[in-house]
Amino acid sequence: MKTINQINGIPLHYARLTNHPYGTRGEQRNFSIDESFLPVLENALQEVFTHCPLGVPEVITTAGIFVDKPGQHGHGKAFDLDAIFWRNETLVTANFIHQKELYLGIESFLRKHFGIVLNYYYPNHKDHWHVDTSVPVDYNETSKSETLYLQLVLKYIYNEEILVDGVWGRQTSGVVTEVFGKLGIDTPITTKTNYLKFLDLTGRIAFKLFEENTSPKHLLNNLTEVIEDLPQQNRIAVREALNSFLDHGETAQWLGNFDETHNLDTIINSVI
Ligand SMILES: [Zn+2]
Repeated sequence: MKTINQINGIPLHYARLTNHPYGTRGEQRNFSIDESFLPVLENALQEVFTHCPLGVPEVITTAGIFVDKPGQHGHGKAFDLDAIFWRNETLVTANFIHQKELYLGIESFLRKHFGIVLNYYYPNHKDHWHVDTSVPVDYNETSKSETLYLQLVLKYIYNEEILVDGVWGRQTSGVVTEVFGKLGIDTPITTKTNYLKFLDLTGRIAFKLFEENTSPKHLLNNLTEVIEDLPQQNRIAVREALNSFLDHGETAQWLGNFDETHNLDTIINSVI
């Protein structure tokens, strides 16, 4: 076991305290980590931030590496990633709903290195990614966490109509064949080289979408989705307030000036 307080020079912080709550930069801490797991984590984050348009961050917050409990954390062989802080931008994993492109871009590259990645849709993982190497990197149709990721990128990166339920079936299989065809990747997805190629291209495409999707209309769609995710007693009042803003003639006129400019096919062609 080794003790670290940074990875690749990026300070590791802890932000699950009363005076440093979740979602803040927290404070730098020492973490114990297994010596064979550390280089995997270093390589993974190196690749993530090489591709991420925001570059190398200033701080990463983690809920823990070695934790005295059963499973991979008990061996210092798992990492819980809470949030990433760049100078002017932040990805807080609990904000998946309005940071989908950035979130899924990062997750795509993490999956090239960790056989287990548990995300926002996996039970009890709304506020962090859990990653470990207890199983090899590949796609397994019976894996709920892998199928959730797959359905999320098919829906939110590739704009496909698909149910996100973590269950591989005819619908998912059909959409995979279609999207793999567009990307020029061979099927089946269960062949490791095909899967790795898919992860890599999806990461690049998600990051491009993140860079381009800053039109006010896109941000407004994000806001609408956040509202629809609120508990019902809050949702109704906020939705009505937003609607009266949107229904105002001057707002409508102003919003009419903006288009969703990105063209997915153009982005796909620029990365393949
Ligand atoms: Zn964990």
